[in-house]
Amino acid sequence: MSNRPYNFGAGPAMLPEPVLHQIQTEMLDWRGMGRSILEIGHRSAEFKAVLEELEERLRWLMGIGPSYAVLFCQGGGRLQFSMVPLNLLGAGVSATYVITGTWSRSAATEASRYARINTVWNGSSASLPTAEQIDFARDDSYLYYCDNETVQGIEFPEFPGVKTGPVPIVCDMSSNFMSRPVNVERYGLVWAAAQKNFGTAGLTVAILRRDLLDLAGPETPLLLNYSVYAKTQSLPGTPAVFQIYVANLMARWIDSHGGLSEMDELARERSGILYRTLDETRDVYVTKVAPAARSRMNVVFRLRNEALTDLFVREAEENGLLGIAGHRSVGGIRVSLYNAMPVEGAQAMADFMKDFARRYPAKKAAAARA
Ligand code: PMP
Repeated sequence: MSNRPYNFGAGPAMLPEPVLHQIQTEMLDWRGMGRSILEIGHRSAEFKAVLEELEERLRWLMGIGPSYAVLFCQGGGRLQFSMVPLNLLGAGVSATYVITGTWSRSAATEASRYARINTVWNGSSASLPTAEQIDFARDDSYLYYCDNETVQGIEFPEFPGVKTGPVPIVCDMSSNFMSRPVNVERYGLVWAAAQKNFGTAGLTVAILRRDLLDLAGPETPLLLNYSVYAKTQSLPGTPAVFQIYVANLMARWIDSHGGLSEMDELARERSGILYRTLDETRDVYVTKVAPAARSRMNVVFRLRNEALTDLFVREAEENGLLGIAGHRSVGGIRVSLYNAMPVEGAQAMADFMKDFARRYPAKKAAAARA
């Protein structure tokens, strides 16, 4: 392993070093073809084999049965904000969105261009609703929520428990996909952008119950129609070949590192180190996320003395701890700990936080404020 700094960026996020090395070595000659995978036809047997391997491995790792289609869509998360209503409203006129933070709110705003969107919860309390608090209409086309709010650092600890009957549940798992086992059967649709836990930007995976495949109206643009991806085995045109290749390497890496249970264990260990540190240094740092909603992926906090935030970020960088400034909309600090982050990275971050807290204790911080 080299001495690369730890990258806590929220996405595009770090990739495991062996994956980066493999990409590097395969760029000039992939599988003896004298070319990289970026330079061969996407309908070649060789590329299709990669796509098939990725789908099969996802099905195996996540326990996805034949009643679900696994679709590799173009574009990022925001494109799904449009694809979801365009595909799933069907003959219905409304859907309910659970607003827990930035990304569920953005998804609801986009969907409101197409339908009557009811919202529950308001995303301002840094906590999560219970199943009873998630109220929705029985004739909604779907109920939508975001499993991990990347900006606020709020994650549902488990399936929210809501019983929807025939109303399908749609879940944005962009920032915690493949980081723990999921019972896909509870959902109508699970989707995730690749650039955090399993690859790089430009690809989203959609896992869709097959009976929901053909609800899009005739005006739906071709490449925004899930059924077009299903009918063409995710080759409606030239796909995101590099992203699919990297996602396949990531799926292999996750598989060879113990699969989703092990990813979950490691995620708990990494985030546990940081939350324990926050709990021990409350006089210097503060997190408003309710303990039951603490994200394993994005640890979000502030310095009590906000004037020290820039110094904290700068010193962290000098110590090889990169990408920790909070989202531009909220400021503060965000430490993202996706699948590729070694436990040692979380430990190094915690050590730095403790050291900083010793050097800028509450009293000194108060004096700096005065
Ligand atoms: N959903 C979640 C949970 C996200 O974290 C993000 C981006 N960070 C998005 C959606 C939007 O994804 P994109 O930037 O690829 O459009």
